[in-house]
Amino acid sequence: MRSYPKGADMSAPRLQTKVFSLSNDRHAVPVIALFNLIFFQGYAILIHTCVNVYPNRKDVNRIMPFLMDCHCHSDSSPDSKTPVSEHCEQALALNISTLCITDHCEANVYTEEGYDKTIRRSLSQTREAQTAFKNLEILTGMELGQPMQGVAHTNHALEENPCDFVLGSLHNVAGRPDFYFLDLHKENIPELLNTYFSELLDMIRWGRFDSLAHLTYPWRYLAAAGLSVPFSDYKEQLDEILQALVRQNIALEINTSGLRQDMRQAMPSGELVNRYVSLGGRLITIGSDAHRAEDLGKGLLEAVHMVRMTGLEEITVYRKREPYGVNIEKGNQL
Ligand SMILES: [Zn+2]
Ligand SMILES: [Zn+2]
Repeated sequence: MRSYPKGADMSAPRLQTKVFSLSNDRHAVPVIALFNLIFFQGYAILIHTCVNVYPNRKDVNRIMPFLMDCHCHSDSSPDSKTPVSEHCEQALALNISTLCITDHCEANVYTEEGYDKTIRRSLSQTREAQTAFKNLEILTGMELGQPMQGVAHTNHALEENPCDFVLGSLHNVAGRPDFYFLDLHKENIPELLNTYFSELLDMIRWGRFDSLAHLTYPWRYLAAAGLSVPFSDYKEQLDEILQALVRQNIALEINTSGLRQDMRQAMPSGELVNRYVSLGGRLITIGSDAHRAEDLGKGLLEAVHMVRMTGLEEITVYRKREPYGVNIEKGNQL
């Protein structure tokens, strides 16, 4: 069991750098003020200018809410063409403070489809970006798909590629293609979903990942196929999953990609996030699952709102596989 260091926030020193750069954008204003002071004895004007140019702590938090995106894919994932550097530039443009690159590492086709090589490439490019982008916290990560469908490969991936954050995913049930490829009109939906939940449960009991990615993933494709399946039909299975997460001290991810797809809601929904918290869950990570720079950060404010609605005060970020709580209201703790 890992401990949960409440309130720890390692991001503050780096964010102070960002405040400095914010001020730099307006450096011309203090120069004008100094001119006033020397030539027109404009003491009052100088004081007024300084107060307005250097925002106080509360103002900075209002201007730059603490946002982290802990799920995105670079061109080391087969379904993305975006270099890590492009995501980093976009993160800076959006005032995202912490970015974790989580490229795919599909255990069931690990060597066949070359994930053993691409995940190594992903981590090395992320480390290069850490050197190049000093004003952004960049974390190394992976989205470990179907870990129980290739345990030897999973162990290899984890041992050879130590990183800050591991998302656990299930994109397909054993022996079947990704839900994306299924013709759901021809499937036995209850059987398929029960298998999905039972494989998720095995994954959580195994437990060598930090946060469960996009719970309710099949609903993304059910919605795309025009099929409506209420979550309440699977209340028992969902409860079992959420309880297992709490027991294993594994985080629940709010994946905002669903908000920009047919299902029009986050994975999981706010209702399920509330349920996780009411069952004792305290660890929530957030991520856009962006495969293109323009999707980075999308829906994160909604995700923060969802966390706030549960009554939790913190969002979790993982560094070196350890959870750190970041206070939603105090944000950067500047
Ligand atoms: Zn995924
Ligand atoms: Zn993903």
